[in-house]
Amino acid sequence: MTDTQKTVSFHTLGCRLNFSETGSIASGFEQRGYKIVPFEQDSDLVFLNTCTVTDGADSSCRNLIKKAKKHSPGSKVIVSGCYAQMESEKLSEMPEVDLILGNSEKYNVFEHLGEIETKIKIDQTNDFWGAYTTPSDLKHTRAFLKIQDGCNYICSFCIIPQARGRSRTISVDQAYSNALELVGAGYKEIVLTGVNIGEYEKSGEKLTDLVQKVGSIQGLQRLRLSSVEPNTITDELLIALKDSGKYLNHFHIPLQSANDEILKSMRRKYTISEYKDVIKKIQTHFPESAIGADIITGYPGETYEQFEETFKFLEQSPITHFHVFPYSSRKGTTAAKLPGHHNNTEKKRRIKLLNQLGDQKIENYSAKFKNQITSVLFEQKKGDFWEGHNPEFLKVKVASDEDLKNQIRPILIESSYSSSKHQMSGKIVLHS
Ligand code: SF4
Repeated sequence: MTDTQKTVSFHTLGCRLNFSETGSIASGFEQRGYKIVPFEQDSDLVFLNTCTVTDGADSSCRNLIKKAKKHSPGSKVIVSGCYAQMESEKLSEMPEVDLILGNSEKYNVFEHLGEIETKIKIDQTNDFWGAYTTPSDLKHTRAFLKIQDGCNYICSFCIIPQARGRSRTISVDQAYSNALELVGAGYKEIVLTGVNIGEYEKSGEKLTDLVQKVGSIQGLQRLRLSSVEPNTITDELLIALKDSGKYLNHFHIPLQSANDEILKSMRRKYTISEYKDVIKKIQTHFPESAIGADIITGYPGETYEQFEETFKFLEQSPITHFHVFPYSSRKGTTAAKLPGHHNNTEKKRRIKLLNQLGDQKIENYSAKFKNQITSVLFEQKKGDFWEGHNPEFLKVKVASDEDLKNQIRPILIESSYSSSKHQMSGKIVLHS
């Protein structure tokens, strides 16, 4: 690095889509001669890719901006992404912020660097900007490949269609070529990602076609899908995933609520009985798979009985990974105008009960891995331990002096998840 080489650091909040986009933008900076430095380090520029899915996400963004300026007081702070798109005026009042770029403009960041005094650049286009994890993204070992953006659904609580626009997609050929590049760069696992990837369609080709093409790449060892809406899961898709021989044993199928009245008010596209059928369908093709679900609790008007219905469904269902969110009112959404908003105390009470249940369920699920061998892709070292995930997206740690980054190793599991330890631990199997 020369003394005059400019530096830039990144921080990404929110979904895997944001992670994929940060990867491509970071690579663009590197190609233009910038050195990428860790977020905590002093740098000329700080680039933040933000989220606005809940109040919590908004306040995390504001805290992050303050933190960035604190550890790198001389840097120019660029804020992009969904929070920037939706709350540019509010952000412009923060003295720490130098440039605000909406979801389309963030890809044009290089053109705006010389005009930082302009401050706000928000546009809403329906172009598809391809993105994927690159080595310039210092944080990720698993590669996120963006195949879709935006959403045509109108879930009552959700701000994302406003923040990201209508659904649009990459072509199957382009996804294949990006995936080839990722495998060539040494990535072993690809996660196909987007806002609503089940709705993928381009020139008559569906997600099944894309999975078949990407899954055929020699050298690709692991394939995952990010969240898939339940109404878009088909037998054809599940068969294509199975036939690839690379799909990992883990699905993420948003639930939100197990009460039909709430699902209807949320404008979700399934009933609870249909959701159950989807889970059965997954289990027919992937009998032992882990299943994650997003759950919103404290939705306006959700009675305690309706909450209990969701709780009981989750208790009995094969869902293993809970992602529980308190309902968060988003300006401009239908649900924000509904009567019966809950106070935070009640939302916290429901969240706590669901999280306790979630902890119990993942402990039970992980217990079956004890004394078994599972394969783990290692991602990072923390202290003396390497951490990674197995196919069922359970976190595994092992003590090792070897450099295990981006290595897939067979691990004999010695201890499973417990109330005090949200991960399994084990040892490397030398001869399996
Ligand atoms: S499917 Fe519903 S919750 Fe998901 S992004 Fe689209 S509108 Fe939002």
